Amino acid sequence: MRWRGERQSGNVEDVRYEGSARRLPTGMKLGGGMTLLLLVVGLLLGQNPLQLLQIFLQSDIGVSTDSQPRPRPAGDDEAAQFVSVILASTEDVWGKMFSSAGQRYPEPKLVLFSDGIESACGMNSSATGPFYCPGDQKVYLDLGFLKELHRLGVSGDFAVAYVIAHEVGHHVQNVTGTERQFRQYQSQARSQEQANALSVLMELQADCYAGVWANHADSQRHILEQGDVEEGLNAAAAIGDDRMQKMAGRRVNPDGFTHGSSQQRVQWFRTGMQSGDINTCTTFKQAEL
Ligand SMILES: [Zn+2]
Repeated sequence: MRWRGERQSGNVEDVRYEGSARRLPTGMKLGGGMTLLLLVVGLLLGQNPLQLLQIFLQSDIGVSTDSQPRPRPAGDDEAAQFVSVILASTEDVWGKMFSSAGQRYPEPKLVLFSDGIESACGMNSSATGPFYCPGDQKVYLDLGFLKELHRLGVSGDFAVAYVIAHEVGHHVQNVTGTERQFRQYQSQARSQEQANALSVLMELQADCYAGVWANHADSQRHILEQGDVEEGLNAAAAIGDDRMQKMAGRRVNPDGFTHGSSQQRVQWFRTGMQSGDINTCTTFKQAEL
């Protein structure tokens, strides 16, 4: 992909190096352990612990009671910049599409995290992979997941772009009301199989939206290079539930699918990519709901 020098998004919230606690005002950082330590040190030095505490609070070197900020591993920033450029591209594409329909596109935030995060959708470990939370309109992405993709045989920057575009596709479903409709359908589902089938339709539509993005991103900024689409399709195929199940050593069981088969994901990504029109992403219509 040709992405260097392109605009980066202002909507990335990078919390990878913050430790588990958000930064608190200095005075609030003193935990019981630290207070006890100051008390002991104060007694040992023959000083008034309260005075020591006072000095400590004024010095702005408070220690978080939770984990410390982590050091940045080298080479990670390139990946973070890439993510930011792709998010900016989705903003441009969807912003233009919404405004040509006379609407405003509410841009989602993208949270880069590591080792689990608290979202409006609950606590998620990085093992769950990237996800979109409709409650806070944020895409959550752990760069560690990209290593997992690598393990599945997916490589290349477009594959990563596809994953982001898919999550942004869920955001589009949310702000256009499809998500609400989906919840309603799902609450009326008569069986787990039916509920799963509905989830598959949501996922395939998000794949189709990722394809729509790829189409427009390329015509707006010529970001695609030879082989990029194959990379995207490879990613779509690799993350298909049938492949996942096979890799997990289970028999492929279509009723348990929540993302769609590799073949379905490729098909819908291609549909969106070729048409560049969200009206072709008719996964629900085709299921005759
Ligand atoms: Zn999805």
